[in-house]
Amino acid sequence: RHNDAVDYQQILAEAAAAARATAGQGRVADYIPALAKAPADAFGMALATADGELYGVGDWERRFSIQSVSKLFTLVLAIAHGGDELWRGVGREPSGNPFNSLIQLETEHGIPRNPFINAGAIVVTDRLLQQTGDAAGAVLDFLRTESGNPSLDIDPEVAASEAEHGHRNAALAHFIASHGNLLGDVDTVLAHYYRHCAIEAGCGDLALAGRFLARHGVRADGSRLLQRSQAKRVNAIMLICGTYDAAGEFAYRVGIPGKSGVGGGILAVLPERATLCAWGPRLDAAGNSVAAMAALDHFTTATGLSIF
Ligand code: GLN
Repeated sequence: RHNDAVDYQQILAEAAAAARATAGQGRVADYIPALAKAPADAFGMALATADGELYGVGDWERRFSIQSVSKLFTLVLAIAHGGDELWRGVGREPSGNPFNSLIQLETEHGIPRNPFINAGAIVVTDRLLQQTGDAAGAVLDFLRTESGNPSLDIDPEVAASEAEHGHRNAALAHFIASHGNLLGDVDTVLAHYYRHCAIEAGCGDLALAGRFLARHGVRADGSRLLQRSQAKRVNAIMLICGTYDAAGEFAYRVGIPGKSGVGGGILAVLPERATLCAWGPRLDAAGNSVAAMAALDHFTTATGLSIF
């Protein structure tokens, strides 16, 4: 089976079966206490084609905490507003370390390795805050517009829970600030970071919202968000950094750019063709959804559709 012969609804059903076969594996994130309430055994997956058809299976409409999937949108919006200036404050190399690691920040003088680990996302949030005056609001507005779903919102309980237990992110932000790499007030930047991580959306919403990455930077309404080369680069960064210290494993198993979050979602891009979002709250040791990985692995393996 290959290319245009793919029956997306059928392959999503098979991918859901592959996800169900991982039942019981992995653990729901509880280091942010409000996230521990997520329905451990839920699973959903959606596919949005580049020209706007939408397919879904399982709990694909059910909303979950997007967490670090938001880092994709902060990055894209900061690039759209400010271009390459961003790269003075954040690198674009894989970290090989967990998403919340402090370890490289000291040797690299407060310049985080990449925009998708927490340290890097805090810098990107800071720049987006400078550019827009409301970083979390800019991400939320973008998701609402691109998904066509104006009811998307931030879960204030998750944002508050993360702030209350946010010692590690606060440590990262203060260390970055000590090197002069935060332009805004530390607490304000962190509040925006927690709020965009606490946005709730479903697989269908995220698949639609990410579609510009399958369309060389062109939004749903035909306007250009990113230059073609910028969209290529964002996809490259997703591939090498989007699933943290498991990015190699993700490339090996799934073979397309993807961005995960500890809410259990993974948004992935099949350039020129479609975006996929899979969700299951149980996580592996690197903080990536076990069920979503299995489903995406099945999808690309069975269809032969990957960037490789
Ligand atoms: N908000 C989470 C945190 O800062 C995001 C982490 C993630 O999704 N990997 O810890």
